[in-house]
Amino acid sequence: MSVLELRGIMKAFGENVVLRGVDLAVDEHRVVALIGGSGSGKSTLLRCASLLETVDDGQVLLDGEDVTDPRVDADRVRRRMGVVFQAYNLFPHLSVLDNVTLAPTAVHGRPRAEAVEEARGLLGRIGLADKALEYPDRLSGGQQQRVAIVRALAVRPRVLLLDEVTSALDPELVGEVLALVREVAGQGMTIVMATHEMGFARQVADTVAFLDGGVLLESGPPGQVLGDPEHPRTRQFLARVI
Ligand code: ADP
Ligand code: MG
Repeated sequence: MSVLELRGIMKAFGENVVLRGVDLAVDEHRVVALIGGSGSGKSTLLRCASLLETVDDGQVLLDGEDVTDPRVDADRVRRRMGVVFQAYNLFPHLSVLDNVTLAPTAVHGRPRAEAVEEARGLLGRIGLADKALEYPDRLSGGQQQRVAIVRALAVRPRVLLLDEVTSALDPELVGEVLALVREVAGQGMTIVMATHEMGFARQVADTVAFLDGGVLLESGPPGQVLGDPEHPRTRQFLARVI
């Protein structure tokens, strides 16, 4: 059984049909890289998967449970997913430490001392132990994104959804964030990431899925989709970005 399965996801904003029946299954410990041009629907798909948007049709299954069923408590489901966006993920009025401990304590009800200890451990692992009491605006963009990823992990999610987490960063800061994603993937986290980093997708993803105009045109191992794509639209896209 897949950790996350999207079945026939349809989504429109008014007249603008953005997702036209997307199917995607993500197995445990796997990394799926979602690629596609600007406006192809990557962010919308991740927002639908994490129940930040309602779907017009189709289902999102988390560990086999249809979480798009209106009887399901969406808040309970969101707690089992970690989501990180392009930028501005952290609460500016909370210290780094409080950012990381907020959800584990306030949402998951874990004792503060335990959450703090774990948060300090996570911050230490990304070399930011000394920043625990700083506010986010004192950190570089790369440091902020690494804290955002660590914060998402602090609730021990079933799946981590990353939406172009490096695309707002200065080029010299991209590497440190990708290194953390790589490490998290290596530890077995199930990840879906929208990315423009094709080299990274090739190295880290188990599956690359190409979205074009709200249709998942092809998906498969990185070597195949990035190296020898079947679809002319995929070839066109790759010729532009690589
Ligand atoms: P991508 O992440 O691949 O660049 P998006 O999912 O952000 O694509 O956008 C796909 C389309 O959906 C675009 O045409 C965008 O304008 C539209 N869209 C996304 N979010 C909204 C929204 N909240 N309201 C209206 N239109 C939206
Ligand atoms: Mg996007």
